[in-house]
Parts: sequence; C-alpha cells; structure tokens
Amino acid sequence: MSNDMTTNVRTVCDPNCHANPKCGIAASVHNGRIIAVAPADYPVPGYENRICMMGRARLEYQYHAERLRKPLKRIGARGAGQWQEISWQEAIALFVEKQKEITEKYGSRAVLFHQISGAYGLLTRGSPLRYAALTGASAVRASGIDYGIARGLQYAFGVDAATFFKSGGHSLNDAVNSELTIIWGGNPAVTRSVDHVALKKARKAGTHLVCIDPVKSETAGISDEWISIRPGSDGALALAMANQIIEQKLYDESFLLEYSNMPFLVNVETGRLLKEPASELAFCGPYQLQDGSQARVTTVFNLVADMVSEFDASSAEKITGVDAATLVTLARRYAHASPAAIRIGYGVDRWYNADLTARSISMLACLCGHIGIPGGGVSLVSGGRRVPVKGARFYAPERKSPNFLSMMEADQAVTEGTPHTIKMECISLGNPYNQVKPNRNKVLTDYIQKLEFIAVIDHFMTDTAKWADIVLPAASIFERTDIIVDEFIQLQQPVVDPEGEAKSDFEIFRALAEAFGIGDYFHKSAEEYIDDMLDTDSPVLEAVNMARLKVEKVIYPWPAQAPYVGFEDKVFPTDSGRIEIYKEDLIELDRELPFYREPIEASPLNPLFKQFPLVLLSSHSRYRIHSTFANLDLVKTREPEPVVRVHPADAHEREIEEGQLVEVFNARGRVKIRCCVDGSMRKGCVLIREGHWIDQFIEGDPYGLTHDQYSPTTENYAHYDVLVEMKGTAENT
Ligand code: SF4
Repeated sequence: MSNDMTTNVRTVCDPNCHANPKCGIAASVHNGRIIAVAPADYPVPGYENRICMMGRARLEYQYHAERLRKPLKRIGARGAGQWQEISWQEAIALFVEKQKEITEKYGSRAVLFHQISGAYGLLTRGSPLRYAALTGASAVRASGIDYGIARGLQYAFGVDAATFFKSGGHSLNDAVNSELTIIWGGNPAVTRSVDHVALKKARKAGTHLVCIDPVKSETAGISDEWISIRPGSDGALALAMANQIIEQKLYDESFLLEYSNMPFLVNVETGRLLKEPASELAFCGPYQLQDGSQARVTTVFNLVADMVSEFDASSAEKITGVDAATLVTLARRYAHASPAAIRIGYGVDRWYNADLTARSISMLACLCGHIGIPGGGVSLVSGGRRVPVKGARFYAPERKSPNFLSMMEADQAVTEGTPHTIKMECISLGNPYNQVKPNRNKVLTDYIQKLEFIAVIDHFMTDTAKWADIVLPAASIFERTDIIVDEFIQLQQPVVDPEGEAKSDFEIFRALAEAFGIGDYFHKSAEEYIDDMLDTDSPVLEAVNMARLKVEKVIYPWPAQAPYVGFEDKVFPTDSGRIEIYKEDLIELDRELPFYREPIEASPLNPLFKQFPLVLLSSHSRYRIHSTFANLDLVKTREPEPVVRVHPADAHEREIEEGQLVEVFNARGRVKIRCCVDGSMRKGCVLIREGHWIDQFIEGDPYGLTHDQYSPTTENYAHYDVLVEMKGTAENT
C-alpha cells in the first residue's frame, strides 16, 4: 500500500479493556506508513474523542523494533532464547506434522488450542476454534480468570457467564438514571477510562456514588463515599446489608413473590424445592406433598432470613472491617433509593468464593426489586446490548465444536493426563505463562515440561512465546480484516501492509487447514465469512452486510439510542423463570444458598496467616491491558518499574522505607521489588499491579506467588486470594 497523499483510514482497537463500544481509530497513512492515530467518528452522538493512552500507543506498538516479523523455530533448549528464522511454508508444515504425530499417538483431543483475550475480532477469535473443531482437537472455553462473579450471576439470573458481561448488565450511560450507584470492587476511573465519564456525569446530575474497595482507588476519589473493606469479605457485607433490609422490612415483597424463588417451599428434611411458591414469603409449617404424605416445609425467604441473621451489624463489622453504622446506613440507603444500581468489578472476582459473593449481591438487588428497571441492576461494571450476529456460522462449522475444556480442566489434562492427555498447545491472543495461569513456578517446572510441542501466535516475544517451539508473527489491528461487535458493528480493515511476514490469525489457520488436508472447509475469504455472520433473521441486521460495512466502516443498527437495561422484560432464563436465590443442585456442595465463606487462603483464620499476614492484591494498571502494552516506551515512561504498594503502618512494622527494595514472598515464590509507602492502601494488604513482563522485575516475579486452587462452583482461579509476607533488603538501588 503506497500513496504519496496522507489518507485517513478507520479501524478498531480491540483488546480486553471492556470499552463498550471498542474505540474506532482513525489512522493517518502516508507512503504506506501510519504516521498518526486519532479517535474515529461514530454514526450516533455520545462517542466523541474516544481513545485512551493505550489506543494512542498503538502507533509505537505497530512499528516497535521488537515486533515479530518472521516465523521462528527454537534451536536451543526451551526458554533459552535461541531461534532460527524459518519460512511460513516450513512453519506451517512443522505445525501440522507435530499435530498429526501427536494425534496419531494420543488422539486428536491431545492437541489444545488456547486463545485468550488479547483481541475481540470475531474472525481472529473464531479461527482457532474453527480449526480445532475441524481437526477434532481441544480448545479452552471462556474460563480461568474473571468468571467467578459472572458464574455467580448466572446462578441467580440464568444468563450464561460468558455473555453476562453484556446482556445481564446495564450500560454505563444508564448510570444517570440511578439515585445511588455502588461500585463494588472495581476501579472504572482507571480500567474503563473511556466509559467512566458516564459515572462522573451521573454524579454531577445527583447520583450518590459509593465505592467499596479495600484501597482508596481513583474511583473512590471521585465518589461521594469510600467504604474500605477487608479484602475477600464482600459476601459478608452483602449478607449483613440483606439482614438489615429483612429485619427492617425494607424489601419489595411483591417483586420477590412474582420474580424470585424466595416464596418457593423447601422440604426442611431434604432441602429439596417443592417447585411451587407459597402465597406469602414467611410461610412455614406442615404441608401435604403430592404423594399424600406430610412434610415440614418453609420458604426460601425464611431460610435466607435465618442465614443472614448471623450477620448483625456488629458481627459483620468484625468480619469486614466496615463499621456497623456505615453498614446500616448503606443498607437503608440502598433499599430506599429509587432506583439503585450495583456495578461489580473484578476486585471481588478473583477469589475462591467469588460466585457466592456475586449471588449475595444479586440477592440484595432482588430483595429491593432493583432489577429490570432503568437505573437499577447488577452489572459487571457495565453491560450493553450486542448486535446479534451469528458468530457460530464461522467458529462452529457444520455445528461441529472442539472438545471444549475449562482452563482448569486443560491444566489438569496437561499435568496429570486426566480426563485425557494433552501434549501440544497452540496459544493465540494471550500470554498465559506470564500471569494468567497461577503459580507460575509450577507452570514452568511442570506444565510446560509435559507438553511435547508448543506454538505461539503473537506480535512480540512474550513470556509465553519464550517457551514455545515455534512462534508465528501475527498481524496487528492495522493489518487484518475482521469485525468487532458490541452495540455497534465496526470493521477492522487493513490500513497498511503487514510488518515483515506477519499474517492475520485467520490467514494462519486457513494455511494450517490447507496443509492438514481440510482446506475445503476453510476456503472462503475473510469478507465472505463476515458476510455469513451478518446474514441472520434478526430485524436488527436486516440491512447490514459486508458491502455496507465496507462503505460505512461502523454501523449502529438499532432503531433508537437508549441506555441498555438488563432484564427489562423480567424474563430470567433460569429453570424456574425467576431469579434463583436458592439452588437445589448445589446442595451437595453446601452452596444451595449464598452463604458467606472465608477466603480459601487470604483469611486470618488460615494458620498460614501467622507466617504470611499480608493479602496480595494485583489489580489492573491504567497503562496495560493485562500484559499487553507493557513493553512500550510510552507505557514505561509512565510506570517505569513495578512497585509494591503498602500501608505506612505495615511498612513501619517491618522497618521498610519509601523507595526501598523489598522482597515479597510466600512458600510458592518471591519477587524483589521497590516499595511505595501509600496511605491509600488498607492496612494488611499489599498491591502489585498485574501485567508487567517478567524481565521488568529485579528478581523473581509476583505471578509465582499465586496458587491454583479453585472452587467446584466456578471455573475461576483465585488470583487475589493469596497471602504473602514482605521484608526489606539491604540493597537500595
Ligand atoms: S485500549 Fe483504549 S483505545 Fe483501545 S479500545 Fe480500549 S479504551 Fe479504547
């Protein structure tokens, strides 16, 4: 692509930043090279100047000297950093040879395709799934990290955890309709920088903003109230609020009777639901069963009232660290507000019991009837309507699926060979050997060693790519054709030729399919597959196709613009069609109600607490999306080195000073890092923001500090549920 004129070409930035919609980028191109990036236009108002610092850093990313430009084959020991450039032909042939060899030896499921969250184009994400489905291989389904809260919301509301992010929540521009908004364990002022302005606007318009967070975050700074909570005790706070609401009869009885399973009868002996509601919430007593026998029954509501009665304000204060008066005021304010919203962040997600926390919080909203109305709801910070394209037309060819595994099942398959073995892994769109997989030292000494072949598709030699046998250079957002679908449909189109020999994920998997002998099933062009996905019966997409998208670049297909309200129709896709507070199928796991359970590790009740008394938090940075962008100079100048933040009292107890080098450690790992004494921290916890690459730490890394325990009711690793200790070192450079 060569042109003496400067032209502007619209494409889309699409990392896992939860921007809703993803930001359009106008790239200025001169002589075949991008010389500037700027916010692109949208066809409807409200999305002006939409680009964050990372979007602007895309220019440095594009032409970075360390961008991978040719396929590489390992020639030294794994991880030794010795590589040989090879042709695409050799790379594809080697990949397919290994896949066939492993398939013959162990079966087709022994080959795993693991695509993470580095990009959201439907072709880019769907290509490994299509290829895995066609070759009978395994693939990792949405799981592993950030699915604890979504799974809890799924238990309550019935919407699949993988899609709750959008359809279950309210869009952030609905915040203006809330009298009260509780931001629970999230920091959208930093992590949703292009969207959080909606919260500021809402506050200006009169919404009372409460931020619940152990740390006085940037969002706490723009809130009316900051409630500092002991990390991991959020479920207890929710139950204590529910106790106040029930005790003071502040609940919405008619909502509970009509839309929840609170009035359903439960057999006291067996715990089984009787599948029929009582006409009053507080019913209990003998009841004639269908077989004519008598049973003692009570309602779910009574069981809930009994459960939360243990969480009176002063008991809850001891558990959560939130003082009793604050808790009581918050409960009353939430119940009285008309309406009130709760927006949950990932700060309450990466815990062993995150699903229980989400269910407790959902129960609060249900008790007060704050569901399905503008200004209400329980959202994963934000939700939104999604254009109903048919992605499955591409990623599930002829309705075939890969052998889907959760990340945990896949980890077990690799390390223990159950339920079947996995011997080859192809990773795209992610850097799981950096921080996504917990207990990094175990990953290096066990997981990686058991794999016979590792292929990585990426833009850079990441901490995952370093351990690969072959590394394939991927095309960037400026070099590929794709669509990004949320409330809009946006075209991601080639702006310039690929750097070096980089290829789009779509082209890579199409070449693999050809070499594997299944090219007939991967023969269409990117544009043709996109057209297939847009060809649906939905009236929303009636006039939308690839030809129109190529002209308009971005389409808002809805008849009118309005904030999105989850469950506005009060249809809940649960078995009962109601919000389910009681889950009969979880009785055996002792989780039929959203009980409060202490964190699995980060609890003062854990004997380990004496040895490792600090909770390690690893929240997101303003300057990275997980590990993406961490290697850019633009980012490094703003956050030059990783630091551990610690409360002044914790630093003082350990005779540690501001700027000193310290060691943060537990029995699993250690990291040497500079200390930042920070009054916004809560005493008893330390914070190392996630996403730095391993070589950015002086010694060790914090990703070896996490553990791989996970709850039987989620598919979520507990990255925050971690204890550590910290000590000063003699060095101070
Ligand atoms: S990284 Fe920034 S520019 Fe890119 S989509 Fe997300 S918010 Fe927008």
